[in-house]
Amino acid sequence: MNVRDQLLALNEELRRLKAEGRRSVSVSEDSIAELRAAIAAGAVVDTHLADTVPAFPVSAPGRSGFTPDPAPPMARAELSGIKPDLPASSSHRVAVATAASAPQMPPPPIQLPEGDKATRWKALRAIVLHDPVCRERVFPGKQVVFGVGDLDAAIMFVGEAPGGDEEDQGEPFVGRAGQLLNRMIKAMGLDRGQVYIGNILNWRPEMGARNADGSQTGNRPPTAEEMAYCLPFIRAQIAIIQPKVLVALGKTAVDGLLGADRFKSMGAARGAWHAYADTPLRATYHPSYLLRQEGLVSTAAKKIKRDAWEDILSVMERAALPISEKQRNYFL
Ligand code: URA
Repeated sequence: MNVRDQLLALNEELRRLKAEGRRSVSVSEDSIAELRAAIAAGAVVDTHLADTVPAFPVSAPGRSGFTPDPAPPMARAELSGIKPDLPASSSHRVAVATAASAPQMPPPPIQLPEGDKATRWKALRAIVLHDPVCRERVFPGKQVVFGVGDLDAAIMFVGEAPGGDEEDQGEPFVGRAGQLLNRMIKAMGLDRGQVYIGNILNWRPEMGARNADGSQTGNRPPTAEEMAYCLPFIRAQIAIIQPKVLVALGKTAVDGLLGADRFKSMGAARGAWHAYADTPLRATYHPSYLLRQEGLVSTAAKKIKRDAWEDILSVMERAALPISEKQRNYFL
């Protein structure tokens, strides 16, 4: 793997950890030295990489990326607004920060026609699917992804961003995470067509890494700038659907709907009711995170799956769905 690919892989891993709620990681002196050498050699003088590498400010203001930092690492971690959570030791700690601090793309204004839900939803869908920024971010042959489901749904799930299957099919949650979400919905006594499913982002975040056929490989959470651009679209969907309950799937959805500074981790966000405008919101683990627990027999993995199901039971109660004894005792 060349240095650029290594940095991209590191970037992806940092973002994954951040999405799981980690606020800092330990980096050895050797790794810091290697990163410094790579950066000095110009490995991140690449607009895409500078956009995606998340941890330290590079030279461009308002961006984030890796910087060989003469300041003590603790100070840098605080600069990025994230408090280190481990004691300083022989290894450096590096904050896992969000990307751009100031949106460079202004969120689009949305004007919907008067009319019933279907009229407004169709108009909104057309706006999103034809939005020039969204279209510019999808690769040829791939699709902008808009929400699907029952416009009168009591329960609306909000995920993070499309992955490869979703950008192929133009529908949220149709890949492996989507299959798990479908199983969760079924365990609730519903089917997919009876809920509404949307995402914070409408395109698959660009990774930079490519398969042999030129298609993208891997996924990363959206940057703050990307989220700011698409948030009006998911907000408008919520305003049209008016669900009884919102379910934020994962930390990106929590940050997008409740504010990025509200909760430090998924653990802090879940297990209680919050409100998005006037709509009750429950946060639970993202299905991709739950998939990573599958096959694990540790007590922690079991607890994560049971916690996720308890979140869903709370949602069912709030939406006044009947709950059987079997459902109460169910484990994901
Ligand atoms: N993960 C998401 O957050 N959304 C999707 O649509 C698919 C996977």
